[in-house]
Amino acid sequence: MAVNVPRVWAEIDLAALEHNLRAIRARIGPAVELILVVKADAYGHGAVAIARRAAALGVIAFGVGTVEEALELGAAGIRGRMIVLGTIVDEEAEPALRGGVELGVHSADRVRMLSALAVKLGLTARVHLNVDTGMGRLGSGPARALELLEEIHASPGLELAGSMTHVASSRGADDPGTAAQLRSFDQYLGPARERGLLRGWTHVANSACIFTGLEPRFDAVRPGIAALGMLPAEMGVIPAGGGRLEALRPVLSLRSQVVFFKDVEPGTPIGYGGTWRATRRSRIATLPVGYNDGVPWRLGNRGRALIRGCEVPIVGRVSMDYTTIDITDAPGADVGDVVTLIGRDGERELSASCLADEAGTIPYEITCSIGRRVPRMIV
Ligand code: PLP
Repeated sequence: MAVNVPRVWAEIDLAALEHNLRAIRARIGPAVELILVVKADAYGHGAVAIARRAAALGVIAFGVGTVEEALELGAAGIRGRMIVLGTIVDEEAEPALRGGVELGVHSADRVRMLSALAVKLGLTARVHLNVDTGMGRLGSGPARALELLEEIHASPGLELAGSMTHVASSRGADDPGTAAQLRSFDQYLGPARERGLLRGWTHVANSACIFTGLEPRFDAVRPGIAALGMLPAEMGVIPAGGGRLEALRPVLSLRSQVVFFKDVEPGTPIGYGGTWRATRRSRIATLPVGYNDGVPWRLGNRGRALIRGCEVPIVGRVSMDYTTIDITDAPGADVGDVVTLIGRDGERELSASCLADEAGTIPYEITCSIGRRVPRMIV
């Protein structure tokens, strides 16, 4: 069955995105703002298409990882607040200010650099103060953050657009460490409010926090992976809490096609290192998709694929451009057949979360590692 489809492609289901945004909205209520996190090309899904549809559905703010990502969205005609959630390096500062990109700040050094540049350019830098309450990655604890807050207010050219912290646990409110982080954030928020220094949005919750019902929700939430129809590994693979996953629909499917197959005798080695050998007469199919396309190397000899509605094993090592599967038990499978690596085929489904679990990684890494040569096709 010859089919006219690419070697490998990612289907991006924007109706699923819409469904997930509604599910998030249902969780957070109408009063809370939504900062949709689309960094790293929307976790490999294609940030422009995701942000464009989200903007059309009323999302007014986007979280990005770099200034370049923010400017790319703007250049594609997407309107909305663009917020670099982490930090910037010096060379990103001028394009950020010229492009009206909002910036996370976490240190006196960044505050002073941005203030001096904003004054020089005659522009305003809109900043979100990042308070470290337990993530340990960027920012200082509440006491030092309060000093920085004073400094931001005293610095010409700076405007406080928000205050934020980031939760370290992928179990959100289910993890007692998250409540401790909120108590720590309160040590910043309380005095800041009393001194009349709070401005803009206060935001904390990522997907895990939203779907575990973290309270309070503050002014805005920052979901990424849930909008794409997945949940962090620790939540995604455990059906605990029942129904959490059912509320979401995966946006991305990864598919390829059979380019070749052959029948091999028992004992025949397949792939690098001959790590798999046929134990019976077997039909081995080759797919032009490899670890550069999002099939983790770790899935060699342990992953699965879907073909003609059957689930079949990946045999041998996954290589950069090719993967081999055993189609002996998939009757009629042929060259040109579509093969699903992530997504649904008939009654069966391979989720990025299950793949990640199998490969000893997280779903974020699975979709982020789908390389540039894989076309993203909107369906
Ligand atoms: N907020 C910050 C600061 C982040 O770095 C991220 C992603 O890593 C998110 C929110 C979104 O997280 P998630 O995709 O788990 O919802």
